[in-house]
Amino acid sequence: MCHAFLTDSRFYRFLFELDQDIARQVRTEGCPCGGALHSARYPRKPRGLRSPLDASYSTRLSFCCANDGCRRRSTPPSVRFLGRKVYLGVIVVLITALEQGLPAKRRQWLIEALDIWPQTLSRWRTWWRETFPASRCWQTQQGNFIPPVKIDRLPDALLKGLRGIDLRQRLCQLLLLLAPLTTASWSGYLRVRIDPQKM
Ligand SMILES: [Zn+2]
Repeated sequence: MCHAFLTDSRFYRFLFELDQDIARQVRTEGCPCGGALHSARYPRKPRGLRSPLDASYSTRLSFCCANDGCRRRSTPPSVRFLGRKVYLGVIVVLITALEQGLPAKRRQWLIEALDIWPQTLSRWRTWWRETFPASRCWQTQQGNFIPPVKIDRLPDALLKGLRGIDLRQRLCQLLLLLAPLTTASWSGYLRVRIDPQKM
């Protein structure tokens, strides 16, 4: 099955390694004040799908400036946690992608198994139609897609437009594209790329 990765712990391990690569970049760049960044992870409790997740999913990687007068927090972009949303980014994308994502039956099963409320689903759709298209992240990326991505076809149109031999690979590319949107305390240029050999 093309979506078996959804319950495969290796998939989530891979996303965590990507988050670690991103965090390394942020830490290397340091605080804007010139101070060094110290680890200051904060607790997360993603809803649903607990069994394939290891302990790394109970915290979000984050840093705090070591300078006494600063103490600024820098939270790296994440391919796992979509901002403050309580469900993992992968769930938000797959559930809202109607055609390029999961088969209808599997999707409905997930919605019930993960106890996703209709109001939550409707908020996610609004996020794709309004919040995401208006974001600086999308404004700077949309020119890379030929033909242009139709906003009313998100996230399907984006999944379809990304490179990858299967849904899992395109999904990882999409989560990386969305990563800058997952933090308000870091806004640099993300240099991390996915190595297809490792996928
Ligand atoms: Zn600082």
